[in-house]
Amino acid sequence: MWFLLCPIYAKKDSVPLRSNTPSLDRGARLVISLHSRWLKLRKFCFILMGSVLIAAAGWAGEPAVTLEFIAHAAFRVVAEDRSSLIIDPYADRVWLSYDFPAGLEADAWLISHPHYDHDGGDYRGKKPPWPVDARVLRYPGEFEVGAFRVIGIQGLHAEPYGEEFGRFNTVWRIEVGGVSLAHWGDNEPLTAPMAKALAGVEVLMLPVDGVEHLLSFAAVEEIIERLEPKILIPMHYRHPDLEPSAETPKNLGEIDRWAATRKDVVRVEDHRLELEADILAREGTAIYVMLHSPLVEAPSR
Ligand SMILES: [Zn+2]
Repeated sequence: MWFLLCPIYAKKDSVPLRSNTPSLDRGARLVISLHSRWLKLRKFCFILMGSVLIAAAGWAGEPAVTLEFIAHAAFRVVAEDRSSLIIDPYADRVWLSYDFPAGLEADAWLISHPHYDHDGGDYRGKKPPWPVDARVLRYPGEFEVGAFRVIGIQGLHAEPYGEEFGRFNTVWRIEVGGVSLAHWGDNEPLTAPMAKALAGVEVLMLPVDGVEHLLSFAAVEEIIERLEPKILIPMHYRHPDLEPSAETPKNLGEIDRWAATRKDVVRVEDHRLELEADILAREGTAIYVMLHSPLVEAPSR
């Protein structure tokens, strides 16, 4: 459109100047000068048009959603407008040997259940990792948070844990920027109501570890087969670089034993994943094993 309009605009501009030409020689010079002006203007229009197209392409390729793996079962999800959620912020050095990073910000903090490795505010004597005025969501319901639509689905903690609070576990479904995500928390294997509630989820954060602490490998396979997420992100496994010994945390395996059973595991050399349209358009389920955030460090003791 700019390409079509600009030369016309330039020609219109040249007409009155040419009509004021006092002599033929001077007129000829003016015509050359005006022609040169017109060429410059046209060049400017080409550059302008190119810039507009590049800007439009850049805007179209801009990730709608960025997913950041903090560590264990903790994630931060950031929308295009920079509104954000943090899910399952764990308590410092309880069972896990490392601290939750200080100073993280979010428009809401989502908690799946009141265990210290998911709820840093529940553990006695520990200062919650969120500010005093933070919005903290724990229970089923529907919520609007910035660019997010958040749906808490009532679930049940995997056995044999959580009896002390009735095995309560909220599975969070998150709709943002045209992407549908879900965070399993420590929920039990798939049930028919949960399959229905999570239908169409594209990105699934699921607890998987080598000693089947929560879900058996078979339960994990069933969830992948029935929900068919485009991206599966394993979580809730032992981070060997953050733990002081092979014995910690107790009864939690690494991801490698399970990852070896699958051919489609991609090791993402980053703690961030940009959920762009092309990776969500692919066939089948891609499994992304991510790095934990560099903000989480091995304790120096
Ligand atoms: Zn847990």
